[in-house]
Amino acid sequence: MSVHAEPPPPVVVEPHGIKYATGDQLGKGGFAICHRAEMLEREKSTGHMVALKIVKTKMEPAKLAQKFVTELQIHSKLAHPNIVAFHRAFSFEANTYVVLELCSSGSLADLLKRRKNLTMPEIRRFIIQVSGAVKYLHARNIVHRDLKTGNLFLDEHMNVKVGDFGLAALLVSGKEMDAKRRTTMCGTPNYLAPEILEKGKGHNEKVDLWAIGIISYTLAVGKAPFHAASKEEIYKKLKAGDYSWPELSSITNEISADLRDLVASLLVTEELRPCPDKIVAHPFFKIAFVPTRMSRSQITKAPQWN
Ligand code: ADP
Repeated sequence: MSVHAEPPPPVVVEPHGIKYATGDQLGKGGFAICHRAEMLEREKSTGHMVALKIVKTKMEPAKLAQKFVTELQIHSKLAHPNIVAFHRAFSFEANTYVVLELCSSGSLADLLKRRKNLTMPEIRRFIIQVSGAVKYLHARNIVHRDLKTGNLFLDEHMNVKVGDFGLAALLVSGKEMDAKRRTTMCGTPNYLAPEILEKGKGHNEKVDLWAIGIISYTLAVGKAPFHAASKEEIYKKLKAGDYSWPELSSITNEISADLRDLVASLLVTEELRPCPDKIVAHPFFKIAFVPTRMSRSQITKAPQWN
C-alpha cells in the first residue's frame, strides 16, 4: 500500500467550519501530497487560495508519523513573512489536512532546474530572506536542520518561504531534547554539516548556517559544492572542506568574489560560522543592488537588471 493518501475529494470539509474546493496537485513529498485549494464561504467562492497538505491519519511506519507530529508541533507556532504560513490542521475522513499558505511559484530547486543558475541580485535577495527566517527560528531555539533549495518555496511575488519542518528540532539549553532522534534522522547528504557526521558529537543551530552556505553556492553554480556519485564520497569531501568553484570559461553567469567569500565564511567549523545578522552584514550585500520586487517571469528567464 502506498504511503501517500489518495487524491482528495472535490470538497474537503473542516469539522465545524470552512470548506475547501480542491484543485490540481502541487507536488508529492516523502509522505504527503499537496493540492491547491480554494476556501469556500457558505458554499461560495472566496478567491482565497491555499495549499492543502494531505497525509494519511494512520501513517506507517511510526518514524514517518513522528516526523509529521514534530512538523505540526513546531510549524503551527511560527509566524514570519519568510516562513510558509501555517493556517490550521484537521482530520477529514481518513486523512489529516494541513492548510498552508500557497507558494504558487514552486521551490528554489524547481527554479534552478529551469534556470540552471541565478543572478547575483536574485541570490542577494533570496539569502537575505532565508537569513531573516533563520534568525527568527534560532531566536526561538528552533533548528530547521533540512534547509535546502527544495524546501525554500516561492510565493507569487517570488518571496522565499521556508517550509517543511519535518526534521526541525527544539533546542533546550542549546541542546536538542531528543538525542535519539538526532542520531536516527538527518538531512539531505549534500547539505549536511560536518559535525553531524562526527559520532557522539551533538549539533546545534549552526547546521542551518552551514546550509545557507551550501544554498548560496548552489544558487550561483547550479549544483551543490560537495558533489559526488556516492554518499560516502560526498561525506569525505565535506569533512575535508574539499570544494571548488567552476572555471570561468565553463559558466555563463558572473560569480562575484564577494559571494565566494561569503560561502567560504560559512563552510567552516561551526564556531566560526557567522550568525544570520552577520551574514547579511557581509560585503556581498553591501553597496550592491538588491531587488525589492521580482517578477514571475524570472521563473523561466534570467532578469535583466539595468
Ligand atoms: P514531505 O514533507 O512529504 O516531503 P513537502 O512538504 O515537501 O512534503 O510537500 C510535498 C510537495 O508539495 C513539495 O515538494 C511541493 O511541490 C508541494 N508543496 C508543499 N508545500 C507547498 C506550499 N505551501 N505551496 C505550494 N506547494 C507546496
